[in-house]
Amino acid sequence: MEKSNPYEMALEQLDKAVKKIKLDPGVHEILKYPKRTVIVSVPIIMDNGECKVFTGYRVQHHDARGPFKGGVRYHPDVTLEEVKALAMWMTWKCSVMDLPFGGAKGGVVCNPRAMSEGELQRLTRRYTANLIRFIGPETDILAPDVYTNPKTMAWIMDTYSTYVGYCAPGVVTGKPLSIGGSKGRLEATAMGVSFMCREAANLLKIEPKEGRVAVQGYGNVGYYAAKFAREMGFKVVGVSDSSGGIYDPDGLDPDAVQAHKGKAGSVRGYEGSEEITNRELLELECDILIPAALENQITEANADNIKARVVVEGANGPTTPKADEILFEKEIMVVPDILANAGGVTVSYFEWVQDLMSYFWTYEAVMKTLDEKMVAALKDVLETARKNRVDLRTAAYMLAVGRVAETIELRGIFP
Ligand code: GLU
Repeated sequence: MEKSNPYEMALEQLDKAVKKIKLDPGVHEILKYPKRTVIVSVPIIMDNGECKVFTGYRVQHHDARGPFKGGVRYHPDVTLEEVKALAMWMTWKCSVMDLPFGGAKGGVVCNPRAMSEGELQRLTRRYTANLIRFIGPETDILAPDVYTNPKTMAWIMDTYSTYVGYCAPGVVTGKPLSIGGSKGRLEATAMGVSFMCREAANLLKIEPKEGRVAVQGYGNVGYYAAKFAREMGFKVVGVSDSSGGIYDPDGLDPDAVQAHKGKAGSVRGYEGSEEITNRELLELECDILIPAALENQITEANADNIKARVVVEGANGPTTPKADEILFEKEIMVVPDILANAGGVTVSYFEWVQDLMSYFWTYEAVMKTLDEKMVAALKDVLETARKNRVDLRTAAYMLAVGRVAETIELRGIFP
């Protein structure tokens, strides 16, 4: 059986790239481990007056190229191994995009859907307070991830600012616009995903109006990815969320599905659609598959049944290494997570720059710069893949790991 530990999966992906770039074994060893792992217990008073203690993590993988950067996720299944993998993936994501950041990730084991806004605010503030010595605009910059959003970021920013005694918007990105957020950040991850869909369709000569798209996950990334895909002319034939999926070969209207989800709590039951399972969603007859939920979705068990011609990874770590091999053999193109969903952190970088300058860009400037940066990174990855006859993930890793390694070698190892 294939391993499902995401950190082991991340190490396996790293190994595969390291073999191709002939990395110094000492540097490889350094890159395997996070530089710092912070585990905090987060006690808060619940609405019923009881004290409950949650576990929170912040894993800082590497900062050779710049401050640590990465989101914070709230989910009942968060584990340390998962956060370690996600932190490492952030290092490669920032590097492949050539951003001056390292990689980190945070997580709190909780079920945000069963918590009130007041409880979530207290949880966020106490988690931030417990990390206060380890985060900051020049050390580690937080951002949204699964089940966290601009409101969560506002609480982090306010808590941090209260501690340091001045307004410090640069400690977190993905903030609301009025407190130093960037135009376009909310939908940036999905916008980047749609740019990659456009480029992949172009390469594979899939006409948008003939291209069928399926999206797994209907959170911030999934919903906007479906919406932008439709705006580009693709037909969105299937979408799903954690409770199941819907299918309509004539195409769904992502905004109407979102409105339905707002009322019903799930995409399921959307009028005129056929109900399918999450598994069926992944195996749909389509051209572009966008996994935009959690890790470990396309595995050894179902990779052979994938019918899409291209997989554009909106989620982090949706495809296991075994599944990667199967997809490569089937000649299914995989635009890897560290590139495909890098639109989020790239606009986070723009937001951080805007905060440091206290000068804000237009929406058009944000999206144009994002498009250029993503297309340039894809070009580098395609070129590396072609030269080395490897899949796009390995190529993206070769570039990303190579850049981090170069920085470590130039800076030298202290003492
Ligand atoms: N959580 C997002 C990711 O996985 C965004 C991170 C960021 O903006 O720092 O890429």
